[in-house]
Amino acid sequence: TAIIETDALGKRYGNIIALADVTTSVRPGQVTCVLGDNGAGKSTFIKILAGAHEHSDGRLTVDGVERHFASPREALALGIATVYQDLAVVPLMPVWRNFFLGSEPTKGWGPLRRMDVDFMRRTTKSELAAMGIDLRDVDQPIGTLSGGERQCVAIARAVYFGARVLILDEPTAALGVKQSGVVLRYIARARDRGLGVVFITHNPHHAYPVGDRFMLLRRGRSMGDFPKSEISLHE
Ligand code: ADP
Ligand code: ADP
Repeated sequence: TAIIETDALGKRYGNIIALADVTTSVRPGQVTCVLGDNGAGKSTFIKILAGAHEHSDGRLTVDGVERHFASPREALALGIATVYQDLAVVPLMPVWRNFFLGSEPTKGWGPLRRMDVDFMRRTTKSELAAMGIDLRDVDQPIGTLSGGERQCVAIARAVYFGARVLILDEPTAALGVKQSGVVLRYIARARDRGLGVVFITHNPHHAYPVGDRFMLLRRGRSMGDFPKSEISLHE
């Protein structure tokens, strides 16, 4: 059964229609790819799911309950996590510190207890390993990781903190072929762990291998939502 369902979802800015008539669902263990060119409405769509924008038309339900998010906090509380392309990381801080950023047992930037530090370092290492990333050193500054590795850390972080839906905003857009492959495998792992994934991309070659369903947006309109069996990469 679906976690998120949208029914004729839309967003207008004055008389500009940024998004119209999107009917789709996000199910556990499924990757929904959202495809479209620049300006098609992809970010508008995910920002509505993520609680960063309010929708102006249609309905959004989570676990069968109608929702109208007014902040990302509300979406996150329901297990809807978003990894944006420009990750909010602190480049000079260790990987483990970034993994736990904002969730410290001791609040804020004060000194951490030795015990907490050991726990965070160990947990970061084992969570990344469980998702198939073997970092030699979780003490290295996260800024020394490749863009692909940073995306993977952000995904692992969302999984660890209990996300049920993972929204990925162009996670492979800035990456080369090899790094993209790493991130795509990672997305498949999150799916295999039962998360519902919404994967925004403008590259059909990235979407096709991991996607279960495909939603095409064009100039703010949904062109439909198709299962893999109806999609072909050869036009
Ligand atoms: P994409 O992510 O696919 O590139 P967007 O969702 O960013 O597309 O944008 C969809 C359309 O909505 C674009 O035409 C964009 O200019 C318009 N748009 C987005 N945000 C606003 C806004 N705050 N005010 C007016 N128009 C907007
Ligand atoms: P993103 O690509 O992450 O959606 P943008 O850079 O498109 O972010 O948008 C930054 C801000 O500008 C957002 O508040 C967005 O809604 C707004 N915006 C985007 N496109 C337009 C537009 N055509 N007219 C007015 N505001 C816009």
